[in-house]
Amino acid sequence: MDYSAVSNRFSKERLSGPDTPTPVDHSLAGANRVIGGRRFNPAPAWPARLWYNRQQRGACLSKISQELPRTLGALRKSSFPEDRLAGRTVKDELRNNLICKIQRGDELFPGILGFEDTVVPQVINAVLSRHNFILLGLRGQAKTRLIRMLTTLLDEVTPYIEGCEIHDNPYRPICRRCRDLVAELGDDAPIAWLTRDHRYVEKLATPDVTIADMIGDIDPIKAARRGQDISDELTVHYGLLPRANRGIFAINELPDLAGKIQVGLFNIMQEGDVQIKGYPVRLPLDLMLVFTANPEDYTARGKIITPLKDRIGSEIRTHYPAALEQGIAITAQEAWLDRPSPIELRVPDYIREIVETLAFVAREDKRVDKRSGVSQRLPISVLENVLSNAERRALKTGEDLAVPRVLDIYSALPSMTGKLELEYEGELKGGDAVAHELIRLAVGKVYNHYFEGSNMAQIVQWFDLGGSLKLDDGVDSAAMVRQLGGIQGLMEKTRAFGLTSNEPDAVRAAAAEFVLEGLHAHRRISRSEERGYAAEEKKREGREEAKPERPNVRRQYN
Ligand SMILES: [Zn+2]
Repeated sequence: MDYSAVSNRFSKERLSGPDTPTPVDHSLAGANRVIGGRRFNPAPAWPARLWYNRQQRGACLSKISQELPRTLGALRKSSFPEDRLAGRTVKDELRNNLICKIQRGDELFPGILGFEDTVVPQVINAVLSRHNFILLGLRGQAKTRLIRMLTTLLDEVTPYIEGCEIHDNPYRPICRRCRDLVAELGDDAPIAWLTRDHRYVEKLATPDVTIADMIGDIDPIKAARRGQDISDELTVHYGLLPRANRGIFAINELPDLAGKIQVGLFNIMQEGDVQIKGYPVRLPLDLMLVFTANPEDYTARGKIITPLKDRIGSEIRTHYPAALEQGIAITAQEAWLDRPSPIELRVPDYIREIVETLAFVAREDKRVDKRSGVSQRLPISVLENVLSNAERRALKTGEDLAVPRVLDIYSALPSMTGKLELEYEGELKGGDAVAHELIRLAVGKVYNHYFEGSNMAQIVQWFDLGGSLKLDDGVDSAAMVRQLGGIQGLMEKTRAFGLTSNEPDAVRAAAAEFVLEGLHAHRRISRSEERGYAAEEKKREGREEAKPERPNVRRQYN
């Protein structure tokens, strides 16, 4: 899923999806505990020094109450007094709340797996340093997701001057309208409130993004009507960046932004002013800027103007899951497997392993473009599709249990091919062929995990003696178990998965089919559309013929 090119106001649905429970945030409870240093609820495991610090620091997370002040005067007397809020920037706020969370031992980025020891500590350091930062990584490495979670470090609610397009700080308004308003109404100036989610703005950079989109535009008609100097900010129609004032502004794929906009960004970060249509406009915005980029684009000379690069405090590299188990855990968390269905759905561990291994071998494969990477969305959508194929089969045959088989992975090709950017050699072979080979490689690897050193001679022999077995995709599990049971020694091998003969047919059929697919992956038996599983062709042709079987694909074009 890619996010649309227009601004995306952050929403909870987008972040967590309908099935993921919203992460519980304890910051509120924490704030209540600490406020005033009085209602203090000691957590016994903490060292005394931390205790002391917390007590000294006082309220570090703002407190939600039913009666949020509605005027500037009331705000001054509330738990959002001027001395606390006036000079505090977004980066200070993020830093303070992060410190609170670390001291409390909160989980900082729940649901972000595999980054605990690599990316997360660096992000924490960047926030503690009050840096704008960039996440460099290939697609599907949870960069955007991680950035969106920064909102959990913002205060629950934040006051601003009601009606202000750029959410002015009530104590330090920067726009002319609000300055005038406060001068006129004083303590009666109306106050409104922002939640965290409304303080996050995201933009996918594309070459056609303009200064007007990003920063703003001068409205000459408005200017003429008011008879004001055109550079007066009352005549500015604000773009995304000012509208994200006092929040987090995320730009995805930063290198795609035109040089002119990068200069505008730099000016805002550096000087707090910017030129719109040649007129200088002063906008001392208060923002945390975060970016994402593909590392190759980012390091390419000329893609990012040097002064902007220089102003990005930290460059943090993301990565794909380092270990298969991590990948499996991420896919299990993200894939839609726990779905309402009239039948029971059960995904065997080895199917999960194969699907994840598929992503790992694709990332290594030389036919797949390394610069673009293989997104974690690949195993996620493949696994969803695999389960759906099993579900569809069980629904058709009227079974009450659906268990995916290896053949279902081959049927999930439509969820794969679009996510593989191929190199020239891969393009020549075609996406489908490459995907097929990658599945076969993955099956072979997972087969080794379960059956390395296991003696399969009896099964191979059954085929060598002329046996063949064609499994129909639509046949029900009981019939399949009968067919597979005819191959001597096969069903016994499924004990490697801890299966007994008491297991449902669907489970046993899938397991036995995996054994055959594993043998096929290692070219010990063959499988074809017409004959199904049979003896390996090469054995009949003789080994000599099999050898010169690897033509150089490029050669024929020389
Ligand atoms: Zn304002």
